[in-house]
Amino acid sequence: MTDKQLADDVAAKIAQIRTNYTKQLPQELLALEKLAQTLQANNLDADTIYNLHQRLHKLTGSAGTFGLPSISLMSRPIEQCLRSWQEQQLQQISNQALQQLREDINALRSSLSQVKFQESLYLPESNSHSVNGKPQHIWLVEDDTLLGKELTNQIESFGYQVTMFSSLKQVAKSIQQELPDLMLVDVIFSEENKNSTEVLQLMPEFIEGNCPVIFMSAHDDFQSRVHAAQLGAEGFFLKPLDVPRLMGKMVDIFEKRQSAPPKVLIIDDDESLAQHYRLILISAGMEAEVLDQPENIITVVNSFNPELILMDLYMPDYSGPELAGVLRQFESWHSLPIVFLSSETNLDKQISAMQHGADDFLTKPISDSQLVSAVTVRIVRSRQLLAQITRDSLTGLLKHSAIKEHLDIEVKRSLRNKATMVVAMLDIDHFKAVNDTYGHAVGDVVICSVAAILRQRLRQYDVVGRYGGEEFVVVLPDCDLKSAHQILDELRIHFSKIKFRHHDTFFQCTLSGGLASTENHPDIQGTELLIEADKACYLAKDQGRNLIMPAQDE
Ligand code: GH3
Ligand code: MG
Ligand code: MG
Repeated sequence: MTDKQLADDVAAKIAQIRTNYTKQLPQELLALEKLAQTLQANNLDADTIYNLHQRLHKLTGSAGTFGLPSISLMSRPIEQCLRSWQEQQLQQISNQALQQLREDINALRSSLSQVKFQESLYLPESNSHSVNGKPQHIWLVEDDTLLGKELTNQIESFGYQVTMFSSLKQVAKSIQQELPDLMLVDVIFSEENKNSTEVLQLMPEFIEGNCPVIFMSAHDDFQSRVHAAQLGAEGFFLKPLDVPRLMGKMVDIFEKRQSAPPKVLIIDDDESLAQHYRLILISAGMEAEVLDQPENIITVVNSFNPELILMDLYMPDYSGPELAGVLRQFESWHSLPIVFLSSETNLDKQISAMQHGADDFLTKPISDSQLVSAVTVRIVRSRQLLAQITRDSLTGLLKHSAIKEHLDIEVKRSLRNKATMVVAMLDIDHFKAVNDTYGHAVGDVVICSVAAILRQRLRQYDVVGRYGGEEFVVVLPDCDLKSAHQILDELRIHFSKIKFRHHDTFFQCTLSGGLASTENHPDIQGTELLIEADKACYLAKDQGRNLIMPAQDE
């Protein structure tokens, strides 16, 4: 299905839910009227009050979302009145109060014929940069052919596909057919009178395509930097280029654009409302599931692994704070963001709910776009926090403890699924000499290039960590030893071609690595696998380095 078809499909489903909702609404309001008729002022029936309150509470929360905010507004005070009767456990009320209640409910039903639907449909933006496993396509725009060719080779070593352009006129022509995933553009062109920053500003295809661009320039002039900033450039690199740093930047840009869709679990007793939220979030590019049975919360959270839970506050069987409390009993879900969504407007009650393990409170009815942005903002923030805890600041790779945790998870998963997986231990050769000769800062650039090449060349579900100073661990799920050997050997060869620069000197580096697989080891643990991979790495060092060795089964 294309993005467009998916969006149409979701829009049709949303419209269907809305139609069903509005179809049943007159019946529901009639039923409420009848229920109110059965009440007796001098002998209030607690069950009927409870029933009425539940249904009006639901109506307050849902009508606005389905395009009827005026119904939500009218039903809110009725719901609040019923709630106070319930809380005070009133057994009788004045005839006048009962009459008022009935009139208010009747007014709700008569207003239905006059209300107008408010359109609040959120439609997704299509993602023009999805890559589906193909290497990203870079357009290199550089009029110095020799430099361009050298640069092309270097960028290709990192696993990108490069097309070179030597004039902006060529770019203007090709851009009418397709857009690259990223443009790397020299600022000054000898044969044009204008800077490329200015020329690009005049290309509507480029501006509208939202194509990331990085500029490179031999001169650091302020005006070009301003033009680049106006174009929303992702970077401005001075020549001679520090290619490894440039590649690190490119990996960051692509990872940001391709990060996995946010995952949201929705818990609401109002089924149509929950389905509506789900479809809105899906149409905004997220993954969303609805929890049908509150009793299944632990299994579903375990298997779906949401990044945020959107939970109704009042539900008939278990309340939101109760379910939040259950989740918080598990250490692994301590920091899982829980957002209560309710028509509750009383601030004290909101705060009290938040004391029971929720992180935030959204008030129903909420518009579709508000829901999407509220959820997005919270997930982005929680991802940033998580990254600070688990990622190494120099390379962006997982830290020592995090990669070991991932390894254990993957080993268990592969044993459960009877699949094989491979772990690789990689180590830069003679790295101490790099530091000693060129300085620690240059050494850091080499470390970052290993990280960049690993992140760029491996599959999205392979996990990469910085195990120690210049040691890296790669976890390759669903992979056998032979394929892993081939993949890492290619990576090793590409890495050896990267040219590092220190002032006017260029130098190259190599890697050694060891591999261990779960093949023929049904009960192996992550730590043992790592030891095997490490031994194999030593063997590679022994045999002269610049080599990937599989573990030797004894
Ligand atoms: P071998 O080929 O046997 O692996 O030799 P080597 O020199 O690479 O191995 P050794 O373990 O002796 O040296 C690793 C060096 O890495 C020592 C340490 O100073 C350096 N190192 C560790 N962390 C960092 C870092 O974050 N940045 C830089 N620049 N150097 C680091
Ligand atoms: Mg080492
Ligand atoms: Mg080393």
